[in-house]
Amino acid sequence: MPIIINQVTISACQGDITSWQGDMIVNASNSGLFGGGGVDGAIHRAGGPQIAEECAAIRRKQGGILPGEAAVTCAGKLPLLGIIHTVGPIWKGGGAGEIATLARCYLNSLDAACTQGARSIAFPNISTGVYNFPKALACQTALKTVVDYVKERGPGGLPLERIEFICFEKDNADLYDETLKRYSDI
Ligand code: ADP
Repeated sequence: MPIIINQVTISACQGDITSWQGDMIVNASNSGLFGGGGVDGAIHRAGGPQIAEECAAIRRKQGGILPGEAAVTCAGKLPLLGIIHTVGPIWKGGGAGEIATLARCYLNSLDAACTQGARSIAFPNISTGVYNFPKALACQTALKTVVDYVKERGPGGLPLERIEFICFEKDNADLYDETLKRYSDI
């Protein structure tokens, strides 16, 4: 169930982010920007070696990125404006600032997309794979952060028109459906 806030459509669906059509996708990367398993591996495989080359250039320049930060590369063979690489927190029980760090992943990715003038962005469910962040809490954190971001900037305050969450797993897709429905009821 999509919601529209300040002319921005926020929605979720089940799918593979590498076949999403729009301007920019977010990658749940690692601090070294090395390209690993999960969504990271899928994006590197689909986009080809040019993405890894640009990740290596970022590594040489600034030694990678910290959890919560974001960096932009080209999208290689993927028909997109670019890829936003962010590093989610590894879940350690919740006492290590994991929620705030996950929120910063979404904020910094949105800022990066806006800086690039992107009109649409797709997010995977950052940290909910091998980084083990509880899925319901990750969903609440992601949606609250994105909704607040769009609300705070007011009508027409962003180049973005479309923000989508691409859930690879059905349980995540169901969580986003339920949570978006609660927002639409308000
Ligand atoms: P993290 O290290 O941040 O946990 P993972 O890649 O292990 O990253 O998992 C993050 C999320 O991405 C998980 O919910 C996983 O199911 C999902 N995922 C894996 N492959 C894809 C894909 N091709 N498209 C979208 N999401 C994916």
